Amino acid sequence: MTSRRGFLQTLSAPLVTMPLLSRAGWATPTEGPVLRVALLGLGSYANRVAEAMKGSSRARVTGLVSGTPQKLKDWSARFQVPEKNCYSYEQYDAIRDNPDIDAVYIITPNALHLPHALRVARAGKHVICEKPMALNAKEGRMMVEACEKAGVKLLVGYRMHFEAKTLEIIRMRKAGDFGKVLYFNGLSGFRIGNPSQWRLNRELAGGGSMMDIGIYSVNGARYMVGEDPVWVTAQETKTDPVKFKEGVDETITFQFGFPSGASASCLSTYSLNNLDRFFLDGTNGFAELQPSTGYGPIMGRTHKGPLEFTHITHQTVQMDEMAAILLDGKTPVVPVDGREGLKDLVIIDAIYKAARTGRRVEIAYD
Ligand code: NDP
Repeated sequence: MTSRRGFLQTLSAPLVTMPLLSRAGWATPTEGPVLRVALLGLGSYANRVAEAMKGSSRARVTGLVSGTPQKLKDWSARFQVPEKNCYSYEQYDAIRDNPDIDAVYIITPNALHLPHALRVARAGKHVICEKPMALNAKEGRMMVEACEKAGVKLLVGYRMHFEAKTLEIIRMRKAGDFGKVLYFNGLSGFRIGNPSQWRLNRELAGGGSMMDIGIYSVNGARYMVGEDPVWVTAQETKTDPVKFKEGVDETITFQFGFPSGASASCLSTYSLNNLDRFFLDGTNGFAELQPSTGYGPIMGRTHKGPLEFTHITHQTVQMDEMAAILLDGKTPVVPVDGREGLKDLVIIDAIYKAARTGRRVEIAYD
């Protein structure tokens, strides 16, 4: 353990929230202007983000957009957001004229990411959008182009891109500690409950487990291996066609080939718990994360021993780092922009095609 890391770990809690405790990402002292964020869609994940932002030194909830008037009332009191910064979905284009808001964070069901992103971009505010960025690559491209045209930035809520143990593995891989990387295994799944929720509605979710949880193995394969896959094969299985209707995938196993010759084997499912594991193998060593993408603490080890970094609430770090990206022009170790989100959608389109056709699908990113 480096002395600096050791020092940081002995800091008191409020100070520990200030820098990223990562040798790979060393360390943004989170000072500077504050990113003023309106949350759009006040559901369960927005609640987690809003609570986590209380610990952020560079991001504040300054606006709220909701279809539920009572939530606007309750949340404005909870997070001290003035009534003039609270909007319904019908009214929120007026956010354009609100100087208290720099960015709108879209945290709705997946199908609504595109229409809201287009409106937020038209209103001249930066867009932060939850994963999956959109339902497919076509929609993703529309979002990227709209934001570029409007001159606003588009970021995706890839909180793992700022997680210390993940960043340490990426640092080690870049330093050659694993030798030539040859294999990645990603297991992403949980047993989904309530059959009437939007995650099991094709129109709102855009698919099933792949859109929601499998995307972590898709994205993780890319940042762990350090390459983008060039082909995919995939197989779908379904044990409950009543709960998982046509177009809503229950379980998909998929395999990637990378330009270097490395391969990956991954599983996405809504039917198994305890599936949150990444394993990376190279000629000189390995890295393992389990859990790998849950809310944490993330646990990890490599052939050199355990990874020891203090857990900081992911969304707190994410929002501090997004403030640095949007306000200071910081370049993150792993991108979180719209083109990064679009790549995952291109790959997911290819996974669905491979599962449907039973054929190997070549992946073209342009
Ligand atoms: P919820 O169902 O808990 O909340 C979604 C909110 O969106 C609702 O509360 C509602 O807020 C609003 N909404 C607008 N239109 C609809 C509609 N037609 N049906 C349902 N809700 C609607 O979902 P989550 O918060 O769990 O997920 C939201 C997004 O966040 C998803 O894209 C998901 O993938 C992502 N997510 C990301 C996570 C991460 O770790 N990065 C973790 C969990 C989710 P209101 O009443 O205010 O209008």
